[in-house]
Amino acid sequence: MKTTHPLSTISNFPKPPITKARNKQSTAYYKITTRTSPIDVLIIGAGPAGLSTALGLARLQIKCIVFSSNVFRNQESKHMHGVPTWEHRDLVEYRAAAREDVVKNYGSGGGEGSEGADSKTLFRAVDERGAEWWGWKIVLAVGVRDVMLEMEGYEECWVKGIFHCLFCHGYEERGGASAGVFAIDDCAPRHSATHLARFVLRLADNATIYTNGNELVSQGIRDMLATAGAATSSKNNIFIEERKIAKLVKLPNGAQVEVWLVDGTRKIEAFVAHKPKGMLNGTFVEQMGLQTMPQGVIKLGVPFNETSVSGVFAAGDCGTAVQASATALSMGAMTAAGAASSICAED
Ligand SMILES: Cc1cc2nc3c(=O)[nH]c(=O)nc-3n(C[C@H](O)[C@H](O)[C@H](O)COP(=O)(O)OP(=O)(O)OC[C@H]3O[C@@H](n4cnc5c(N)ncnc54)[C@H](O)[C@@H]3O)c2cc1C
Repeated sequence: MKTTHPLSTISNFPKPPITKARNKQSTAYYKITTRTSPIDVLIIGAGPAGLSTALGLARLQIKCIVFSSNVFRNQESKHMHGVPTWEHRDLVEYRAAAREDVVKNYGSGGGEGSEGADSKTLFRAVDERGAEWWGWKIVLAVGVRDVMLEMEGYEECWVKGIFHCLFCHGYEERGGASAGVFAIDDCAPRHSATHLARFVLRLADNATIYTNGNELVSQGIRDMLATAGAATSSKNNIFIEERKIAKLVKLPNGAQVEVWLVDGTRKIEAFVAHKPKGMLNGTFVEQMGLQTMPQGVIKLGVPFNETSVSGVFAAGDCGTAVQASATALSMGAMTAAGAASSICAED
């Protein structure tokens, strides 16, 4: 495995005639990824999804190159949670260790790829310097980026006081009198907002759901909470704040966020739970003509994560709405199995 530069484009081509076997002596992949001697798999992305795919492929001696622009979704965080062996540990070190595991155990030099004898297509990727990389299969593990809400102070509070997932973050801030939930965008549906608020109640005494002046959203959540039993914490400890939010201020204490409402009222929350909208990284979906799901992620076949274009696979955040590192790792493993199966069938 060799990690290399960001990619700008990917395109597919009819399979060329293979004139000779690959150069077995090559020590650098760029020497062997020509149109007539492509590598087995081009993996775009070196987060948990891409690295897990590389690991799976390496176990069957399937050659891959991993590309990375070195921009990772969780890069503003200091610690990772929910990944066994790496609890509350540095995520940069995690990625380095995951990469090292593959390189140390399975090598980083060149080698013989597959012939891809029955493969219909070959893929060409072009990196930011214009260099071409050729492969029989593509794995997109490009992740997503979180789009900040247009609300004063939101970006400053993001990660430090606004948590997108309460399995990932929140436990460290437990015990507060109140924590907030923003019922905005993807978190506005009443099921999402109340589900988040109930999780909040595991970490704070009370939960305030902010509906930001959206009467319809407030009504939906009110209706839902009305069905809760009289003695439940859903009934007694979840509050709805219907006024519009004017701005957010990150306070120095822990993850505390001060929520300013339009009438000048302020409320301090131990933290706020809100998942902003996500956007796929890159323009590979358009370039490859891939189908997407209503949630905006790439549409994948089950269980091997092949996209709507044969030979193109996807793993991790770009292919699921359940966007967490453990999911990305598991998807990478299945994607490796899918790509390997496809390569072995053509070999
Ligand atoms: C603030 C925050 C904290 C989080 N904390 C946790 C946590 O504690 N536990 C947890 O399980 N999950 C956590 N997550 C979610 C987790 O970060 C993602 O689910 C996980 O990173 C997804 O892995 P991935 O490999 O799909 O994408 P990423 O890790 O985002 O990796 C994407 C890769 O694609 C590359 N890439 C993108 N475009 C290109 C291109 N054009 N050319 C080349 N390379 C490209 C990037 O450089 C990168 O290598 C957190 C998310 C956020 C936002």
